Amino acid sequence: MAPQIVRTIAEARAALTPVRQAGRSIGLVPTMGALHEGHASLLRAARKETDFVVASIFVNPSQFGPNEDLSRYPRPFDKDLAVCAREATDLIFHPEPAEIYPAGFCTWVEVHGLQDRWEGATRPGHFRGVATVVLKLFNIVQPHIAYFGQKDAQQTRILEQMVRDLNVPLEMRICPTVREADGLALSSRNQYLDAEERRHATVLYQALDEVRQAYARGEKDAGRLAERVRTKVSATPGARLDYVAFVDRDSLLPMDTLDSPCLVALAVFMGSTRLIDNLPLP
Ligand code: AMP
Repeated sequence: MAPQIVRTIAEARAALTPVRQAGRSIGLVPTMGALHEGHASLLRAARKETDFVVASIFVNPSQFGPNEDLSRYPRPFDKDLAVCAREATDLIFHPEPAEIYPAGFCTWVEVHGLQDRWEGATRPGHFRGVATVVLKLFNIVQPHIAYFGQKDAQQTRILEQMVRDLNVPLEMRICPTVREADGLALSSRNQYLDAEERRHATVLYQALDEVRQAYARGEKDAGRLAERVRTKVSATPGARLDYVAFVDRDSLLPMDTLDSPCLVALAVFMGSTRLIDNLPLP
């Protein structure tokens, strides 16, 4: 059956209230659309585990910086609808920006500390926009379980903290990163890459894989592992390292020696397109 599409909060509530009253569990997959296999894997996880699957498709203006790609971010709604239908999604919430941010909107969610590092340092205000829109989606949909991708590791960490700090009554599920056959993590932004950039974009995965292998052989020194990543990226045509970070999974603060659970995260410009990826160690 084709998913029901709703564009207003009132319609979403009208569709969801009977579901909740019938005692059925609700799964939410928040997205910005341009859906790919990564998103589909979240929809499938929700389909398996909950009775009623909601996908939100909203290119959230407040998480884009002034010089970012808000206006050119892809919005292929018909294709997205087909993906949702294929994955047996029940409801698509697809609001206009003014529905989410009406005139006079002035309340923001900030997850201090966590929001300022790494992606937050390069993209000031980004996580404030993410946390705010996700909390609004949680309040609108009131899911029992919400699904996110490990691909955006800092985002998931921040949202988990928000859920804990603000007592949001739901469970978070973090699903594994889905990759192309050559290792490139699926991303809606991959379509900005030209053929040459696409070919070389595997450097993110290859650098992470090299770290994983060195770590498995016993290398625990973050400085030396970072040097391997820098060398690999600088040898790749068109690639420029924004950052590579070896961080504690909880605090996201840098680690010198990887003697407890760690996350390796990196951001690389391929031409003008900025790509991110990460790997939990061990
Ligand atoms: P986005 O539409 O980029 O905001 O992403 C929506 C959700 O899909 C987020 O929870 C992302 O972490 C997740 N996601 C994006 N790419 C992937 C991927 N390659 N594998 C798994 N999840 C992903």
